[in-house]
Amino acid sequence: MTKLTFYGGINEIGGNKVLLEDGGRGLFLDFGFPYKRHKQFYEEYLNPRSGAGLLDPLTMGLLPPLAGLYRDDLVTQSLWERFRDNPLYRELKRVDGVLLTHAHLDHSGYISFLRANIPIYSTAVTAFISKAMQDSGKSALEQQICYFNPTVREHPKGWKQIAWFSESKVPSQQRQFCIYDRNLETLSPDAIRFWESGFWEKTAKQKELISCQLAAHSGCFNLRCFPVDHSVPGACAWGIETNSGWVIYSGDLRLHGKRASLTQKFIEEASALHPRALILEGTNVLREANFTEHEVYENALKAIGNASSLVISDFSPRDVDRLLTFLQIARDTGRKLAILPKDAYLLKTMRLLEPETPDMAQDDNLVIYQDTISKPGNWMLNLCKEYDSKIVLAKDISSAQDKFILCFSFLDINELPSIRPRPGSLYLFSSSEPHDEEQEIDFRRLHNWLEYFGIKSFGLPVESNGEWRIPDEEKGLHASGHACGPDLLKIAREIKPEVLIPVHSENSYFYVEKLSGSGIEVRLPEVGGVMEV
Ligand SMILES: [Zn+2]
Repeated sequence: MTKLTFYGGINEIGGNKVLLEDGGRGLFLDFGFPYKRHKQFYEEYLNPRSGAGLLDPLTMGLLPPLAGLYRDDLVTQSLWERFRDNPLYRELKRVDGVLLTHAHLDHSGYISFLRANIPIYSTAVTAFISKAMQDSGKSALEQQICYFNPTVREHPKGWKQIAWFSESKVPSQQRQFCIYDRNLETLSPDAIRFWESGFWEKTAKQKELISCQLAAHSGCFNLRCFPVDHSVPGACAWGIETNSGWVIYSGDLRLHGKRASLTQKFIEEASALHPRALILEGTNVLREANFTEHEVYENALKAIGNASSLVISDFSPRDVDRLLTFLQIARDTGRKLAILPKDAYLLKTMRLLEPETPDMAQDDNLVIYQDTISKPGNWMLNLCKEYDSKIVLAKDISSAQDKFILCFSFLDINELPSIRPRPGSLYLFSSSEPHDEEQEIDFRRLHNWLEYFGIKSFGLPVESNGEWRIPDEEKGLHASGHACGPDLLKIAREIKPEVLIPVHSENSYFYVEKLSGSGIEVRLPEVGGVMEV
């Protein structure tokens, strides 16, 4: 019997952590950051104490209490004493790896806490995007997916409260990623250099690093990796051959994006395996239809067409397809697309693996907006030096506002005092609507900013009677990363597993209702629940 235990992603969107055990072997299907549960207890200025190591996430139910799974530097002998009575407590004897589906933190974030010698299986693009995000992001404990600085427990200046401290003298460690979809010999020297480079290079302890072996898969399970379409490049679904038959795990996917043919191919190939079980996402089960990326292009082009001054476009930072959509619009409207250094870093990283990605250095319509940062990181300084001729500053944009589309998210809006947008400027909102109170507060703030600077918005949800809705005439600026209800049912029916297990959904019951009588048995998992298939 194959056993599945669901430690996250149940009645919530994201935080997927499913343990698959079969014949003494074990694999995790994603190991994500649980945004919903995290927000129940924490906010921007109230976070799990990094100095408390694993204590906070374990106590607050953000991480499952599984001895043997986590980084040695974060575990003390007495830690597990506290959790032995927890119904989820277990000693995990063997974990052969994590099958990571894509580089969104709700699927990858808590890999940061895992033992360094647990290999992470992913596509090359997912591994590289994860590293680019870590290189250019915050150094928080939850973002140490590809490498980390082991902590020490003795404070150099004598702080006594037992805690974990980051100590730069301790040699860093890099996780082992096993790239599944590519022959590693085809990677360019630049790509290898990117993967091997990091902050540890300056320390004398470099030789003590556990180097990341971009190894082929170890052979403990027979696996299949199916590329699929999602709102970040490199996404895949997985197939695992078990003693009960094939178990398929969808990750996040869609059938209406630019790479829909990948998802279609996945459906055909997974179906041919006659799987025992399909673990399927259900983010948008209640949605009847989705806009396509091409509709986003047409609608955004129309909206920008009449703008007489600056255009700001707001979309999810890792959505490279959307970035390319706006790059095309910039070409069509005679503007330049100004992206932030972290987005330029991501594009540069993507190009190491997918040479058809636009080249920052060559593309006349792409420039880098250098934002106002008091302490730019080394990656940022190097990047701006490399693309020196492509840098634009606030004053450049300010003096030629009708020549730019500026890619900002809400959190970059504090650049406006430097840019001073002129009347007639436009804010295009090309992202998803607010999902919780905190996001609603951000949307109110965003409206205040736009009103204060006299910027018109398009596609931005507005509040009426306590509900946030995009005005009807402004819809169609966002293509969701997730398939709609009818597409998800098509995926389920065509793959036709014996058992369907919904995850990553707040409306799993949808599958029970819609698939009754289809010959597919729908089983709803519970948090921490065990299911035999
Ligand atoms: Zn995702």
